[in-house]
Amino acid sequence: DNAAAVTVIGLGPMGQAMVRALLAAGHRTTVWNRTASRADELVAEGAVRAATVADAVAASELVVLSLTDYRAMYDILGAAGDALVDRVVVNLSSDTPNETRAAATWLAQRGADLVAGGVMVPAPLVGTDAAYVFYSGPRAAFEANRETLAVIGRPEYRGEDHALAQLYYQAQLDIFLTSLSAYLHAVALVGSAGVSAEEFAPYAVDNLNSLSMYVAQAAKNIDSGQHPGDLANAAMMGATADHILGASRAAGIDLELPGTVKAHYDRAIAAGHGADSWTSLFEVIRKPSA
Ligand code: NDP
Repeated sequence: DNAAAVTVIGLGPMGQAMVRALLAAGHRTTVWNRTASRADELVAEGAVRAATVADAVAASELVVLSLTDYRAMYDILGAAGDALVDRVVVNLSSDTPNETRAAATWLAQRGADLVAGGVMVPAPLVGTDAAYVFYSGPRAAFEANRETLAVIGRPEYRGEDHALAQLYYQAQLDIFLTSLSAYLHAVALVGSAGVSAEEFAPYAVDNLNSLSMYVAQAAKNIDSGQHPGDLANAAMMGATADHILGASRAAGIDLELPGTVKAHYDRAIAAGHGADSWTSLFEVIRKPSA
């Protein structure tokens, strides 16, 4: 068959899910993990166990890493020696943009291309239609492996800069984690009056579902630097932000999250954006806070 050979190094929940998806798609899949026993079930399911890191890297032109961070990549591939020559290393581990660029240099010195990636779903969704993965790095190295990588999730190639995939990944988690904290904070606020999370749930769902409607117009405003505030302006919304802070203080709950939001409005209004749309907060958020 035509399915390309692939090596997966790092068999945490994510790596294991990737291996299972690749095996199901008919790829000869070689595995290696620091804690060798984590490969046992996968080998029983058809994966090939590599005895050493060098063997694992030698087995396939495409080497996928699924590790805690980039430090782990050095700890592991430091023992790969010449096997790295002409390999495409697709690192699906999370780390900072600078760490990612440094890793590209380190791999290039050993003859390998780095394609960096960020998987946007948890392990149970790897290999399903819901899965997508941001990639960046050399286009040719990515394109040569696109079909195999598509087994993990829909590939979203964002450009040549190795750091792009990490930035997209972190930007998505920035929205996700901040929204989750905002939701929990809101539950605590109504909870101070004895309202259960279940009672509040339908309203939270309605709110979260409607958030995405604001993105298209906000993006236009942000990219053009024009923030017309005819329907709702920063001064009005800043007053509301202050009321949320006051309500939180009265409820005796966390003040940091609403305090940060209020500070965004305060700084935007101080910068002259009071009559502009809330999107004008971007002009202060894009700069360092004091
Ligand atoms: P785990 O932390 O469970 O797995 C980490 C893997 O890295 C293990 O194979 C572990 O080996 C290995 N490892 C860590 N440090 C070292 C080291 N110094 N030397 C050698 N091996 C090392 O991670 P996940 O599978 O959950 O996630 C992998 C990556 O995917 C992470 O970057 C994570 O941010 C990202 N991700 C995770 C998601 C999730 O829902 N879990 C969702 C989307 C992305 P050993 O088994 O020996 O400990």
